[in-house]
Amino acid sequence: MKNEIVRNIFKEYYEKYFNPKENEVGNIKLREFALVPFDSPDTMIRHLSFPTFKDFKQYIVKNIPLHLYYSTAYYKVPEARDMDEKGWLGADLVFDIDVDHIPTECKKEHDTWHCLDCGMHGKGMPPERCPRCGSARIDREVWVCNKCLRVAIDETMRLIEEFICDDLGIKRNDIKVYFSGHRGFHIHVEDERTKKLDQDARREIVDYIKGIGVKVELLNPLPKMSEHGWRGTIARGIYEFILTLRDNEDLNAFTPREMEHLISKRNILVKALEEGSIEVKLPKSILTKLVKEVISKKSVNIDERVTTDIKRLIRFPESLHGKTGLKVTKVDLSTLTDFDPFSDASWLTSSIKLKVTESIPKIELGNVKIDVTPGDIIVLPASVALYIAMKGKGEVIEVL
Ligand SMILES: [Zn+2]
Ligand SMILES: [Zn+2]
Repeated sequence: MKNEIVRNIFKEYYEKYFNPKENEVGNIKLREFALVPFDSPDTMIRHLSFPTFKDFKQYIVKNIPLHLYYSTAYYKVPEARDMDEKGWLGADLVFDIDVDHIPTECKKEHDTWHCLDCGMHGKGMPPERCPRCGSARIDREVWVCNKCLRVAIDETMRLIEEFICDDLGIKRNDIKVYFSGHRGFHIHVEDERTKKLDQDARREIVDYIKGIGVKVELLNPLPKMSEHGWRGTIARGIYEFILTLRDNEDLNAFTPREMEHLISKRNILVKALEEGSIEVKLPKSILTKLVKEVISKKSVNIDERVTTDIKRLIRFPESLHGKTGLKVTKVDLSTLTDFDPFSDASWLTSSIKLKVTESIPKIELGNVKIDVTPGDIIVLPASVALYIAMKGKGEVIEVL
């Protein structure tokens, strides 16, 4: 639970360690700030604006936040209460990779849901509607284990390298990656060319990254593997698919006849794709399924609401996430693959004595294997203990 000790941990962090810098968030004067106060977690204070980071920090220290946000948009009058009076000037292009939206196998081991209307419950990703009573009021408990985090890291790497850099042509220096403090990563692009893009333009970018709207008829004859963008990606994806296709493979998506066709044409297809000079056509039904297969593998599962919203509030870099106690942390691209939130997104080096108050799934958090029952009193690395406490599953007894 959030007791006085936890409050002091947050307070100490913002007083001593929180030092926002100009190069993290540009144009501070044009941004709107918002926060959920630690002492009043049901309130959101919005429309704040600060001339300098010094003023900002002074305010934060006086009003310790549980959650702290800023606008990805730039405004003429960021403190105006009416959105129209703010005078929108542009917005950073932001992407959100949230493992919540990605179906990982391990979710069956650590996530649960239950229907608020009939009480039905289950494990893993929640259904959109309750299978028993049809209600959409579904409560869920989600955890992010190390496997989930790996998936988020892989998706983030692919998004940046293949889509943002290669296809959109954004320079690496204009991309900032942050661990969101909870279930994934935020990717911020501060580039003059993307600043003014409206919602529709951003929607096009989302569709492109998700591979939505690819026209199969334009891919017959097959594109070359050396082509840019989705055409090349699809050609290379089909090549990989055919190369690893086994004679006796039973792929649900294809009928036995289609499989037979693919296998009989395998050598011709491989040669044509490798040489890139011979034109090959495939029956539309087969090509459609192949393209679908490749897109599901190569597209990136971004949260489209974040990218298309040009007036979004997003977590402030280096602030603490009120549901986990972890820090919204800037991650260098070169070290992203080794990122471990429990050491890299925490400033706490001590240990914490924690009383477990609710049941917790058996899960690996950082390098700690959690296997506890309610009532246990345990000593854990401070970041892991705080995480459990912020999720309402334990009570901090003492910082050691
Ligand atoms: Zn139900
Ligand atoms: Zn997991």
